Amino acid sequence: MADRRGARQEAVRAALVSEGLEALVVTHLPNIRWLTGFTGSAGLVLLTPSNTLLLTDFRYATQAPQEAGAAAEVVIERASIWNRLTKELDRRAPASLGFEAQVTTVREHERLEAACRGRLRGTIDLVEHYRQVKDPEEVAAIRSAAALAHEALAEVLPTIRVGERELDVATRLEGALRSRGSEWHPFETIVASGPRSALPHARTSTRVIGRGEFLLIDYGAIVDGYCSDITRTVVVGAPADERQQRIYGLVADAQRRAREGVRAGMPGCDADALARTGIGEAGYGEAFGHSLGHGIGLEVHEAPRLASTADQPLPAGAVVTIEPGIYLPSWGGVRLEDDVWLRPDGPELLSDGRTELIVI
Ligand code: ZN
Ligand code: ZN
Repeated sequence: MADRRGARQEAVRAALVSEGLEALVVTHLPNIRWLTGFTGSAGLVLLTPSNTLLLTDFRYATQAPQEAGAAAEVVIERASIWNRLTKELDRRAPASLGFEAQVTTVREHERLEAACRGRLRGTIDLVEHYRQVKDPEEVAAIRSAAALAHEALAEVLPTIRVGERELDVATRLEGALRSRGSEWHPFETIVASGPRSALPHARTSTRVIGRGEFLLIDYGAIVDGYCSDITRTVVVGAPADERQQRIYGLVADAQRRAREGVRAGMPGCDADALARTGIGEAGYGEAFGHSLGHGIGLEVHEAPRLASTADQPLPAGAVVTIEPGIYLPSWGGVRLEDDVWLRPDGPELLSDGRTELIVI
């Protein structure tokens, strides 16, 4: 497997030069992982023109050098990694220092300001910008995470029964994901039944699933740190009625149009419009109140955005979700979500795209 970490660090260094910055403190853990390979829960990276320093604590004394290898100089600090960072900054005295304004706490900012008075400048999504474009290994990991998620759902779907609780379904699904090797759940699994399927970000509850109800399942897997994010909506215990079929059909058509029509280079708002037009023409525009999708990778929500307010072109190589929905309060809702790789020559589905209406 190709080691991309050196090239990633060089790309960020070049961005620092064009921003007029000499060095960057990286505190966001997914960015640290992407730059150095370190997967621990606490650490800092100081990126200077000639060096990548990974500061972490005693818990990672064995793991950090193993994971970082030649990609970073590892310093294990037994007391405070922030005090150690201050010492390193005193010693190196960069002319200017960037920090990640989108994730830095006020307390951390105060510490950086004390160490680098007058030389400190906030950056926003500097590393995230480069993380949008996935290399082949990253795409392979997301593809595996999607396949694993489909296998787990295929095992659980036939076991779902009227009269059991949402929580029981979520428990079995999460168990099936873990037993197949998902490293963890990328987010809290959503299992929402009946009227609760109209809550776009429902919390799985103890509600008992009724006959003929929609069951919306939004879930994913993590493989090699990379997330899949998939939603399926099924009907439980009885054939779908006419209204359920109609609403489901509208969402499935919109989703297919968007996942086939989305292109690298298209502004995020144009991608969003692909799914919105048909739902709007059918009179349900107000019931599709969230954006069409988002990037996935080391984080389940990352750049780019597919939204009416996103005017930036979607970069070739990004992996994004396509997830339109219609939510009718007190009746129910449908969302269908698949994961798409934006290749330069067109979109490629990484999830299975099986969005036909299933009755269990
Ligand atoms: Zn989702
Ligand atoms: Zn999503």
